Amino acid sequence: VSSQPKSLTIGLIPADGIGCEVIPAARQVLEHLSSSHQLKFRFVHCDAGFEYFQKNGTALPQKTVDTLRNDCDGALFGAVSSPSHKVAGYSSPIVALRKHLDLYANVRPVISTKDPQNPSQKSVDMLIIRENTECLYIKKEQQFTDENNQVYAIAERRISQKASERAGRMAFQMALARDSIRQQQPVEQRRWTGKPQVTIVHKSNVLSVTDGLWRETIRGVYENTPEYQTRINLEEQLVDSMVYRMFREPEAFDVVVAPNLYGDILSDGAAALVGSLGLVPSANVGDTFVMGEPVHGSAPDIAGQHKANPIAAIRSAALLLENIGLPGPASNIYNAVDATLQAGYKTPDLGGSATTEEVTEAVCKYL
Ligand code: ATP
Ligand code: MG
Repeated sequence: VSSQPKSLTIGLIPADGIGCEVIPAARQVLEHLSSSHQLKFRFVHCDAGFEYFQKNGTALPQKTVDTLRNDCDGALFGAVSSPSHKVAGYSSPIVALRKHLDLYANVRPVISTKDPQNPSQKSVDMLIIRENTECLYIKKEQQFTDENNQVYAIAERRISQKASERAGRMAFQMALARDSIRQQQPVEQRRWTGKPQVTIVHKSNVLSVTDGLWRETIRGVYENTPEYQTRINLEEQLVDSMVYRMFREPEAFDVVVAPNLYGDILSDGAAALVGSLGLVPSANVGDTFVMGEPVHGSAPDIAGQHKANPIAAIRSAALLLENIGLPGPASNIYNAVDATLQAGYKTPDLGGSATTEEVTEAVCKYL
């Protein structure tokens, strides 16, 4: 073990609205962490967003892409405002970043917070992995008029073996990584106590070609990897019954892997299981880069009022560390957040009156 602190360069892209409040909060927590963990962070500010577009005519300058790609070990993205009407020349910088950096999966942990006021609350520790490059979101839609002058529209849905395979492999790898983190926790702290489990979500009873390929490909990855077969239970769930079971018994799921559209819907639904949007982190993950991103948007209704809950962004920073090989420091952040909530430091979205800054200070204190 080297005594040199490990040095990491993190790109910060606050973008719009409360992104400019919660990203500095996450940065403050990382800075606080570094003093106790032999970690050294260097932060690089990167421009992007709708406001940047309005001033400069582009939502994502090439410099941001180059800096992230060439100089950074990972990144944190704040939030981007979506204009309410179509604006000529504007397209979402987050979608473009995922493409440029080949961040092919979006991962979203759904974790119940131990609430002393609600001891009967279910113990949830689920990770949803959403394939992020294809499915219906390739946006190939067209409108037609038939011979009877009836208008109809068709959307194409692409499922490829390659994208299914890498999403599946990521699910199995993350199931194993989660298991090794749990093995280091005392049993009473573990929210999932069984063998690692991966659930494939699909609807191949109806969409037998597309979802059939998705399901068969991921099953194939499992069947061809002895380590997965011995260490992981493979399950599957039709997407409709998945929604039902996720709300009835969320404690029955460990890692869930879904095609883009189903994953989008499931992960927003799962956020409702654990409370405010202001709590839920995500990460955009590829083979060579990770970008943490709170699930919420730019929340223009509360921007600039010190009301934004910084926890989703702080947990996204932890998720970033977890995915670049630093599970220990990541656990410490998660625990400090739990302690902060249990001690009652809550922003207005959680029924409290603490400011963004007060919650951030509390997380640093418990760290
Ligand atoms: P956008 O167009 O950027 O998605 P939006 O108006 O849809 O903006 P969201 O950020 O998606 O806003 O938020 C929806 C609601 O949840 C808003 O009322 C917002 O204030 C609230 N909210 C979102 N994030 C947070 C947060 N971190 N802290 C407190 N409240 C939040
Ligand atoms: Mg929104």
